Amino acid sequence: MKIAVLKETAPGETRCAAIPETVKKFIALGADVAVETGAGTAAGITDADFEAAGAITGDRSAVLGDAGIILCINGPDAADLAGAPAGALLVGALDPLRRRDAVDAYARAGLQALAMEWMPRITRAQSMDILSSQSNLAGYKAVVDAAGAFGRAFPMMMTAAGTVSPARVFVMGVGVAGLQAIATAKRMGAQVSATDVRSATKEQIQSLGAKPIFVENVAGIEGEGQGGYATEMSDEYRAAQAELVSAHIAKQDIVVTTALIPGRPAPRLISDAQVASMRPGSVIVDLAAEAGGNVEGTKAGESVRQHGVTIIGATNLARSLSADSSALFSRNLYNFLSAFWDKDKNAPELADDDEIVVGTRLTKDGKVVSERLAEA
Ligand code: NAD
Repeated sequence: MKIAVLKETAPGETRCAAIPETVKKFIALGADVAVETGAGTAAGITDADFEAAGAITGDRSAVLGDAGIILCINGPDAADLAGAPAGALLVGALDPLRRRDAVDAYARAGLQALAMEWMPRITRAQSMDILSSQSNLAGYKAVVDAAGAFGRAFPMMMTAAGTVSPARVFVMGVGVAGLQAIATAKRMGAQVSATDVRSATKEQIQSLGAKPIFVENVAGIEGEGQGGYATEMSDEYRAAQAELVSAHIAKQDIVVTTALIPGRPAPRLISDAQVASMRPGSVIVDLAAEAGGNVEGTKAGESVRQHGVTIIGATNLARSLSADSSALFSRNLYNFLSAFWDKDKNAPELADDDEIVVGTRLTKDGKVVSERLAEA
């Protein structure tokens, strides 16, 4: 089985779908690995590093020829996969909802496309979950970026010249990114509080030493839907949340928002008036910027100043930690494929009724087979 690793072509992409460690592990399984020349450069990995791990390197047509598996970070256009054998697996973050035409083209090309972002959220698949691994890094980087844009220190400092008070950090949305944002802000010495619609997060917030800020006494506020994700909240809940947040936010220096609802635009959590209530010099990092933003005035991919408050419309922060994000993404890919590896066939055996296969597989035998895509 030959595994091809592509060089990413998306603007701003720095990650690579393999690292020398995963190359060695795939070879230990019995595979051959071919890495496109320069694939690791932006993540600090040279062709020589890949070769030392046992891979061969070459141009795209050389790595694609005879490949049984193609690894990528972002889904390439099918035209850029010319020469890939029919039946080859294409595995990466294929963004199926926004790239429906590309999925159809994968089917026409006879590729078996597997969308890693549709990994089911089950215990068995935790080590394969690219959304978690990349969100974790994004949560960390959001706080580091906020600290960089903030004209004050995070920890309390008692100096001969007087005391510096600790920064107050508020995290809205306590999923994977939010939990890491809380942990990072705590490590940096800030006073941290956090909120979510899922009441299960209250204990997690407390266990990190932060203060939970929660809407109480509103009927039907469980907030947890399928797969541990949030549901859309009632008008009553939203009004109570807005009131609570208004009082709290005016006293905060840094706000990190991460609230997402699968398949829906990001919920609006902070209005322009609430931004105006913050002290000038405060910083908001909106990790939901690409899904429309949690903050009124967020511009995806830009940093804007509103009422003296900096609003960072963060997109794909994991890219700015290219070595770590490549390592975690690559291990997710390895953990996925190796879990299905059939030693005798020297290839993954993807059973049609396996929950992980059902969730991630988009195309097979020339057809689009994903039920989720059909429903969308
Ligand atoms: P996400 O990125 O979908 O959303 C981020 C957070 O925003 C969530 O905690 C959500 O509840 C919250 N949110 C949504 N609307 C909100 C609102 N109006 N106000 C405040 N907060 C709001 O979440 P995620 O990071 O993908 O994690 C979702 C859940 O899935 C978590 O419980 C996580 O532990 C779980 N998870 C499980 C696995 C697994 O078992 N394999 C893997 C990853 C995550």
